[in-house]
Amino acid sequence: MEQKQGALRSPMSGRRTIIIGAGLAGLTAGAYLARTGCAPLILEKSGSCGGLVQSFERDGYIFDTGPRALGDAGILRPLLKNLGIELPLVKGLVSTGIGKEFTHYDDALALDRYLASLRRLFPTQERTIGFLEKAIRSSCAMVRTLNRLPNPYFRNPLSDPKYLLREFLPWLPSFLSVALRTGLDHRPVEDVLSKMGADQELTDTVCRHFFRGTPWRFALGYFENFQDYQYPIGGTGRFPQALETYIKTHGGQIATEREVVSILPASRTVVDRRGEEHAYAELLWAGDLRSLYARIDQRGLAAGAVRRIEEERRRYLSAKPGESIFTLFLAVDAPPSRFGRRSRGHLIYSPLSEGRGKPDRARLLELKAGFAGIAADELRARVRDFCADSSYEISIPALKDPALAPEGKTGLIVSVLCDGELWETAESANRAEELQEAMTEGMLDILEHSLYPEMRSKLLLRIPATPLSLRNRIGTSAGAITGWCLEERPPVPSSLASVMSAVRTGIPHLWKAGQWSYSPAGVPVAILTGRIAAAGMARRDRLS
Ligand SMILES: Cc1cc2nc3c(=O)[nH]c(=O)nc-3n(C[C@H](O)[C@H](O)[C@H](O)COP(=O)(O)OP(=O)(O)OC[C@H]3O[C@@H](n4cnc5c(N)ncnc54)[C@H](O)[C@@H]3O)c2cc1C
Repeated sequence: MEQKQGALRSPMSGRRTIIIGAGLAGLTAGAYLARTGCAPLILEKSGSCGGLVQSFERDGYIFDTGPRALGDAGILRPLLKNLGIELPLVKGLVSTGIGKEFTHYDDALALDRYLASLRRLFPTQERTIGFLEKAIRSSCAMVRTLNRLPNPYFRNPLSDPKYLLREFLPWLPSFLSVALRTGLDHRPVEDVLSKMGADQELTDTVCRHFFRGTPWRFALGYFENFQDYQYPIGGTGRFPQALETYIKTHGGQIATEREVVSILPASRTVVDRRGEEHAYAELLWAGDLRSLYARIDQRGLAAGAVRRIEEERRRYLSAKPGESIFTLFLAVDAPPSRFGRRSRGHLIYSPLSEGRGKPDRARLLELKAGFAGIAADELRARVRDFCADSSYEISIPALKDPALAPEGKTGLIVSVLCDGELWETAESANRAEELQEAMTEGMLDILEHSLYPEMRSKLLLRIPATPLSLRNRIGTSAGAITGWCLEERPPVPSSLASVMSAVRTGIPHLWKAGQWSYSPAGVPVAILTGRIAAAGMARRDRLS
């Protein structure tokens, strides 16, 4: 929430610890710095905290803008406990659907049911599915190992000798072995499946809801993560709100609508869009790194420092942002129980189970090629094909917390992965609205003809959100929702063993955290890097 006070304290009271960006990374860092008595100042571009993770209310419906639930990953609940934050959580139950085959991930046998579905759908690929089963089970076992104990940054084993001896030390060798193995093999999941002999259709069925190029262990381990999701009562936005409250009640300050437009490392000052200057002792950048390096003012720096910054700038600006998402927020005049007959509150759904033809990514390339010159009818037809071949992530908040929709009605959040560059192409051609309308119609048609017959006639509300909305609201390149593109080597650390170095930059007193600081990223990485940066900054602050 915007703080209504006038000028911020920093210019008057000398240097302080400053954080840029109040997403999960910046808020986590802010909470831990506030706990140590650092009284950080957080400068946030938009009008509210949470970055990609927020909830909003419309006509009595609560919608989540970001993840449909939050993975615990040995981080979320330990953090809440560690900071003494009360945040009621329910299990975020997941279903997957391929055509008419549905699997509900409510118990330990869910994976067996999913594999049985695959075998029914692809009876000629038994051998490949056997290999896939082994790969999924071993990836899930690795994720289970990683998630089994609280991350040491959120439960310090040295402060509890009994825990250290009985649980932490016996777990450590298996943790280190997993960290080593994941660090050694980053092959994309699509390549691993095709090496197993999977045909294009099976590969698409398994992979289409992952980002292109997702490392295979990370992707296939998701079947374990499906049972690790937690949903805050009241919506996912309750989590950043709780961190915001913690920071403010522990001496920190958060200023919204304060986009930082310039950073001057020589004078250790940042300038916000209102022209106010803030002097920092230590600075954490918790937003898009491409925009950090576009905003650094090199005046007054020594030649060596300028060279280092130029090199880092080149590295980040030449790397590609990852994929984005197109979302429809819908209100339907039907009770949640009607949707609950199909799935749990979080569904990952591929509409067709056979004869799909081209993969959705090929459709995207077709759509992007020569976009400006495509006739309106042709554009709609191509978008329809893309929608038919996409995987849908559907969230039904009222199935997780009944208070999130008016009595007898249901809110749905439906999204498909989408290429932000396509939207920027459409924007330059002045056709973004047309594309948005075509996507909305294409998705509603697919939902009506597959999952929810007659839904269109019961629609009370539909709000689209494009990659451009994300880009404009929180300044994430091309609307990327998890940082860097996974199809290329990322310009940041990408192995578990190197996560601690992810928070450093080549610029003195400047730290980084969040989804652009480590790859592959998401909620756990944002929180963890925020925590690691806070520890480093607090140490520096004490020493200076
Ligand atoms: C629809 C969707 C689904 C997702 N699903 C999952 C999932 O299932 N699992 C998962 O792990 N992750 C998921 N994610 C990704 C996850 O939400 C993000 O990776 C994570 O929240 C990133 O947090 P962050 O703090 O690093 O960055 P952000 O949330 O982007 O926060 C950065 C903040 O910095 C601010 N900022 C930027 N520039 C400036 C500036 N110049 N001055 C001041 N402030 C600035 C922005 O406004 C923003 O508030 C999903 C995201 C979305 C949108």
